[in-house]
Amino acid sequence: MKDRKNTEGQPLSCPECLEGLQEYLDGTLEKQRSLLLFLHLRDCTECRREHDQLKNLYGMLQTLPDHPVPEHFDEPILASIPYEAYRAMEPIRRERVPVYLEEEFLPAWIRSSVVRWSGIVAAVGTVATTWALQLPPTVAIVGAVGLVPAVLVALQGVGRRMVLAEQRTES
Ligand SMILES: [Zn+2]
Repeated sequence: MKDRKNTEGQPLSCPECLEGLQEYLDGTLEKQRSLLLFLHLRDCTECRREHDQLKNLYGMLQTLPDHPVPEHFDEPILASIPYEAYRAMEPIRRERVPVYLEEEFLPAWIRSSVVRWSGIVAAVGTVATTWALQLPPTVAIVGAVGLVPAVLVALQGVGRRMVLAEQRTES
């Protein structure tokens, strides 16, 4: 335990605090760490602001299902996914897990769950608004672009599982 930082109760630095913020809000952070974060947030205005913003975002997510999801909600999204390009890469995909399926292939900001969730919020918001105001569906498609980071990450996960499953059946 000695080699792990901050298990003994030293105060957290700001980067350490921000790093644990998402888990802290999710309630998945271990108790001791969670307490340290709480104490840091109490004393640090900067981190508290960050915390409040993230918390608001999460709060927004929770209030979203006020609008029932419109029928065929997923069609423009699915249509925007470059399945063709994905299939065209079939031959490359056969050799082990290709680079583009490694998580590190996507820039960290895309993999960041804040970016992904913000994208989903933006997309769902646009689609819901489009539907509520009876705007042309093209507006919803524009909004669906917000889903791209989330879709990319999800697609990568699916791709990775497919490749690994394929290898398992071949060998
Ligand atoms: Zn701080």
